[in-house]
Amino acid sequence: MSYFINVILPIPLPKLFTYKITDAEAEFLQKGMRVAVEFGKSKIYTALVSSIHQNAPIGYDAKEIYQILDDKPIVNEIQLQHWEWISKYYMCSLGEVFRSALPSAFLLESETVIQVNSGYKDDQSLSDDEFLIFEALQFQLQLSVNQVIEILEKKTVFPIIKDLIEKEVIVVKEQIYEQYKPKLVKYIQLTQFWNSNEKLPELLEKLARAKKQRELILAYFQLKATKKDIKVADLQEGFGASPAVIKSLVDKEILELYYIQTDRINFKGKSEEVKELTSSQITAFKAIKNNFKTKQTVLLKGITSSGKTEIYVKLIKEILQNKKQVLYLLPEIALTTQLIERLQYYFGEYLSVFHSKYSMNERVEVWNNVLENKQKAQLILGARSSLFLPFSNLGLIIIDEEHEPSFKQYDPAPRYHARDAAIVLANQHNTKVLLGSATPSIETFYNASKGKYGLVELNERFGKVLLPEISLVDIKEKYRKKRMKRHFSDDLILLIEEALKNKEQVILFQNRRGFAPVVECETCGESPQCPNCDVSLTYHSLKNQLQCHYCGYKQAMPHNCFACGSEKLNTKGFGTEQVEQELQQLFPNTNVGRMDLDTTRGKHGYQKILGKFKHHEIDILVGTQMLSKGLDFENVSLVGIMNADSMLNFPDFRAHERSYQLMVQVAGRAGRAKKRGKVIIQTFNPYHQILQQVSTHSFEEMYKEQLNVRWQYKYPPYYRTIKIIIKHKNYITLNDGAQWLGTSFSNVFKENVLGPAVPSISKIRNLYIQHFIIKIPPKQSIVKTKEVINQIKNTFQAVKLFRSIKFIIDVDNY
Ligand code: ADP
Ligand code: ZN
Ligand code: ZN
Repeated sequence: MSYFINVILPIPLPKLFTYKITDAEAEFLQKGMRVAVEFGKSKIYTALVSSIHQNAPIGYDAKEIYQILDDKPIVNEIQLQHWEWISKYYMCSLGEVFRSALPSAFLLESETVIQVNSGYKDDQSLSDDEFLIFEALQFQLQLSVNQVIEILEKKTVFPIIKDLIEKEVIVVKEQIYEQYKPKLVKYIQLTQFWNSNEKLPELLEKLARAKKQRELILAYFQLKATKKDIKVADLQEGFGASPAVIKSLVDKEILELYYIQTDRINFKGKSEEVKELTSSQITAFKAIKNNFKTKQTVLLKGITSSGKTEIYVKLIKEILQNKKQVLYLLPEIALTTQLIERLQYYFGEYLSVFHSKYSMNERVEVWNNVLENKQKAQLILGARSSLFLPFSNLGLIIIDEEHEPSFKQYDPAPRYHARDAAIVLANQHNTKVLLGSATPSIETFYNASKGKYGLVELNERFGKVLLPEISLVDIKEKYRKKRMKRHFSDDLILLIEEALKNKEQVILFQNRRGFAPVVECETCGESPQCPNCDVSLTYHSLKNQLQCHYCGYKQAMPHNCFACGSEKLNTKGFGTEQVEQELQQLFPNTNVGRMDLDTTRGKHGYQKILGKFKHHEIDILVGTQMLSKGLDFENVSLVGIMNADSMLNFPDFRAHERSYQLMVQVAGRAGRAKKRGKVIIQTFNPYHQILQQVSTHSFEEMYKEQLNVRWQYKYPPYYRTIKIIIKHKNYITLNDGAQWLGTSFSNVFKENVLGPAVPSISKIRNLYIQHFIIKIPPKQSIVKTKEVINQIKNTFQAVKLFRSIKFIIDVDNY
């Protein structure tokens, strides 16, 4: 009998694939190990073993595997079950979950690579193209086929490569490689000959005339007294040894270099005792534990600055003492050094961080540490993807800022919601989930009010500081009375002046980056559009450029209108960049900082700006919603929201809920320590019910009102929604497909389908877009509904004309 394995391939096809293995391989292989296999026309993929069996596939001969890549499983049973759930619930393939779950360094790549044939003698006549390739290979050891395509600026390069091979100029190899390279640290030691204390006098004698080298040797001995291995960096940083001096000692064979692989996830923090909880915090802490006796999930609804984090810390301590792992999930944006530092103090040697700004290699290390249940991976602080780490012994999942929309993955599949997927994961681990927020999502608060989740409230700020005083400023009125300077009302200016006078800091929020969203021609009213997307370009004054925030397209700011040639181009609306500029004009002697996507690129982007703010090198910080998440600065006394209306008018059923959350969160940055803070909200519409609710901190009122609207218009938490998005480069094809689908969907789902509809941005990256929303009434089977959608999808894709239409399913869309 021969053996076979079923494997998961990282592709969107909805099935497992069978390969043949030898008896020895069957003996060795286990579920959860990776193998390299060939699939399709000579493409090589990393696949994950999902079962080992003896059932030969029917109808075809199974291929053999290419090689085994692990000597033990890197994915465990619970993970596989969890992936299975994600794939079913979010309607994607197991392969797509696999692809997104593993750090990309674990997903081996196959690339055709060419090299110069070492035996080649320069005696062939080469065509121009051939010569270009040959020449490129003089500078670069090897080229991938894709690079060849770039060099020759054409797609049909295979014949050229083939010719070069036949002329024996180049060789081709199918190269498989692991992208993960452990980080090596450079160490230095005396060569064997000199390596003893007795030799020291002789050595110093020998170096009598080389003062710097002598000093370096002395420094080396000094370090050696306390350390086994001496890093080159220690000598350079601690003793100012120059690389040249080190090199000359290495050349003289007195010193030699060696390398050790290190874990780069190294915290140097010292540990600190946890803070004593206040009496209301203790009450909340006890209530959480009490609720956990009967509920799997508990919501901690604690107002901003009530000390939720301190309560988490206390809980984490207990779980770690019981030798269990803790996962602390946060929206990506809130993963600031501030919180990391805070947790480091308490949990230094137990803490690892995992998020997208970490390099591939760092992520691999965290993965391995969790897999091996290492000490430093007992507490994982991470963004949504840390849900996929190989936990084996999970004791608690904390989801902070659970209301954050960024917990939902939008693209690519799996389009999962990390909060919901975490609750399922906790169930599979038979463990608990704590959701925390000052402004819970409507869904979560609904679940808590219905008793599905436990509910614990904490309505007192630490130090009993009052919640900030929020005033609404009617800017329509202010403009009329000429009390606006640029985008600032006199009230806001006054309060900023006051704060600055008291040496306090200010945060200003504007939910748009760039200088001005739209450039408009005063003569004809046209605004420059992105050539690839259905949006106006955003003006960035610093580079004097127009940019598309959807596809990244950039062009220089034109001098004339494209349409009529007029030179009168005006900017309309405003973004963070403009607020920053106006501040510099209004308050010339203050330091203004800006925090948005444009200023926080790179791993340490946030850190730099927040560090400056913390050390009061910045008086006024302007930013987008990045400012709202978990920042804790005691000296901020004033928060200004420049314009509340754009949020409120967003065309989405969650727009009001989100505006409420965002404004309360931003407001919560004010007056956290001693003094009550102030918040100014500028708006054209001060009587809007959401603004009234924000200004009076009336969460429950907002909740009840929104719940009514959701019921009336059939939205979550009552109805579930599935969004179907279709995209195509040809508008007519897309429209035909949309009509076809519209008929099929409404045949089955009747009035519970919305669409086909053209979204407000109808084209992105040259693809036209239409969508449907399918609503699932409370009593309708979700599983059946998904089956029907899948059937319709399959029939749709069987129509030849529609095969090239992209079909995206987004369950519980956001
Ligand atoms: P939240 O997460 O609810 O917004 P934080 O946990 O950030 O609140 O607490 C707000 C501030 O109050 C932080 O600076 C925190 O260190 C401080 N704080 C909260 N609870 C305590 C406590 N029991 N003892 C000392 N400081 C506390
Ligand atoms: Zn014009
Ligand atoms: Zn674009």
